[in-house]
Amino acid sequence: MLHGFRYAAPRSRSELLDLLAEHGDHAKVLAGGTDLLVNIRGGNMKPGLVIDVKRVEGYGGLAWDPAEGLSLLPAATINDVLRDKRVRANFPLLAVCAQDLASYQIRNRATVIGNVVNASPCSDMAPALLCLGARAEIASARGSRSVLFSEFFTGVKKTVLAKDEILERIVVPASAAGTKGEYRKLKRINGHDLGIVGVAIARKNGSLRIAVSSAAPTPVLVAGLPGTASVDEAVAAVLAAVSPISDVRCTKEYRLFMIETFVRRLMEEMK
Ligand SMILES: Cc1cc2nc3c(=O)[nH]c(=O)nc-3n(C[C@H](O)[C@H](O)[C@H](O)COP(=O)(O)OP(=O)(O)OC[C@H]3O[C@@H](n4cnc5c(N)ncnc54)[C@H](O)[C@@H]3O)c2cc1C
Repeated sequence: MLHGFRYAAPRSRSELLDLLAEHGDHAKVLAGGTDLLVNIRGGNMKPGLVIDVKRVEGYGGLAWDPAEGLSLLPAATINDVLRDKRVRANFPLLAVCAQDLASYQIRNRATVIGNVVNASPCSDMAPALLCLGARAEIASARGSRSVLFSEFFTGVKKTVLAKDEILERIVVPASAAGTKGEYRKLKRINGHDLGIVGVAIARKNGSLRIAVSSAAPTPVLVAGLPGTASVDEAVAAVLAAVSPISDVRCTKEYRLFMIETFVRRLMEEMK
């Protein structure tokens, strides 16, 4: 039987932050619900209150500021990202990763923010955000703070967010516009599936960043490699940063083999 909970759909930011301040201990934020409702139905989460953020004024869609960059707001879905011409023109890696997330129907509900707050090691959006140097703008009734995604994930399904905090905005910096990027994801089947491993590579102005999913308790970023790094140097840096496990989807050895294979292929393709 589905666990019973109260439901609130605040219209304003202050109403939302007050609700989280008062009920954060036993509340859960709802965006698309593609993770949350599965968890409630499966009995893994038993919130007393579910707070829907989709109707909060100013929380919908994407925004572009030439000086600051791209803002992804709490109700911005994966398909919103895919439809946005500014994303495709400036941050193609975001679109490449979004295209590999689930099916069209799920992408219509699933949000980018829900994907990163869920903090699965196999998140498809995390590699793009890590490679692009994106940051999380976090708010609560106590105030606001900004955290780079390289500091955001703290463990399997764990983030820096406190119970009374909301991830209010993801900012992909304007300085990352024009970054070239590619993503490879290994799945058990040739259709829609969670990743066994995923590797994203981004190149801009002589710098190289590589992010890997499903290869450690959190998505992994390898930054600071020079653009001139050889394929072998890139492989060595990535293999030193990951710590995959064996699980129901595949063995640790196969994960390591495929991470190396994807890094080699992408480095060759993106010379
Ligand atoms: C069939 C299926 C296939 C899937 N395939 C993939 C896949 O291939 N790749 C992949 O990466 N994922 C996949 N997923 C997982 C899921 O679709 C994504 O993680 C999705 O992006 C989550 O977004 P959402 O809006 O549905 O989040 P929700 O389920 O609404 O929320 C997820 C979590 O984030 C919290 N949350 C949401 N918004 C905020 C906010 N603004 N501030 C603070 N906390 C917040 C919620 O409380 C909850 O804990 C799949 C899911 C299903 C059901």
